[in-house]
Amino acid sequence: MFGLFAKAPAARRDYSDCSGCSLCFLVCPMWRDRHDPSFTPEGLAKALQCGATASALAAPLDACSLCGACDPVCPERIDLSGMIMNLRRQLASSAAPSRPAVLDDLRTRLRRDIIAGSAVSRSAPVLLPGSDLRTAPALLARVQALLGLTVVEDDGADISLALEAGVEIPQARLQGFLASLRGHSIVAEDGLLLRQLRRWLPGSQRMGLGAALSSRTALRGKLGASDLYVIEPRAYHADHERMVAYYNRLQIETGCTLSLDLQRIAIPAVAQSLSQRLGLVPGDDPGQANWILQGSKATRIVVETLADRAAFERVSDLPVLHIADLAGSLK
Ligand code: SF4
Ligand code: SF4
Repeated sequence: MFGLFAKAPAARRDYSDCSGCSLCFLVCPMWRDRHDPSFTPEGLAKALQCGATASALAAPLDACSLCGACDPVCPERIDLSGMIMNLRRQLASSAAPSRPAVLDDLRTRLRRDIIAGSAVSRSAPVLLPGSDLRTAPALLARVQALLGLTVVEDDGADISLALEAGVEIPQARLQGFLASLRGHSIVAEDGLLLRQLRRWLPGSQRMGLGAALSSRTALRGKLGASDLYVIEPRAYHADHERMVAYYNRLQIETGCTLSLDLQRIAIPAVAQSLSQRLGLVPGDDPGQANWILQGSKATRIVVETLADRAAFERVSDLPVLHIADLAGSLK
């Protein structure tokens, strides 16, 4: 499994390099939802080229799901999701924050004392469950048993939310979190945190939970031609080239269908705006999950995240299983 761990990312360019080719339209859930060019990575990059400020771009910045699908398709290699996260930071630090209660609560959480981690030997691989998996203790225990990893108490869920919302992370909090991870191989459920760990801990070994689980023979062997396998997009796009190769092999070996488009971009089943993620606006758009199901002859859906499981259960009568549940009884 640990041959799958990611390496340091290559340097990417910035919005000034946008050529206006519009390739990012093809994969962007915002464009699919609204058909408004200003709600696209190109629209944002072109607006910045013309001197727009973050506050002028607040609506598309909020609507972006940070799925990362635009990053690998951009021929200019612009760090588009990084650009959007930077703009959100500028928005959140501006004079008139639009969500004071939620963001203040997050700032308080970020200032808390560092959670003392359990005693983990320096070289042991660790699992960062993230806020989703923490809500399902039985599934978390199953994942832990399948991967044989130590679950770390401080999984950086507050740091991930701060990244998403553009809230400044106090240096003491960030350095304490990173210090607890140095020397460990890391498996993370949260794709956004994983993406950032590539920058914060260059040279460390990291991989997404979905790839870690689907690399296990006990689970891989349960996948078949009648399965639609839904990939968590953030971790996939953050390490696109290697993940394309990895999931190509998975598809060839198992015969399953993958939630990928023709450019090998993972279609997000859930594309929530920041306001939806923060709970300020209800729901998410079922269009994305329906898009993945279009033309599918699958009789079962296998997902890597609980959020995707819920999204497919809302729009389909097919059985929807988390990849960890394929193992059946572990006793
Ligand atoms: S991260 Fe996803 S939603 Fe945001 S601009 Fe890129 S493709 Fe669109
Ligand atoms: S794919 Fe890249 S270069 Fe092309 S329009 Fe989008 S941001 Fe600009």
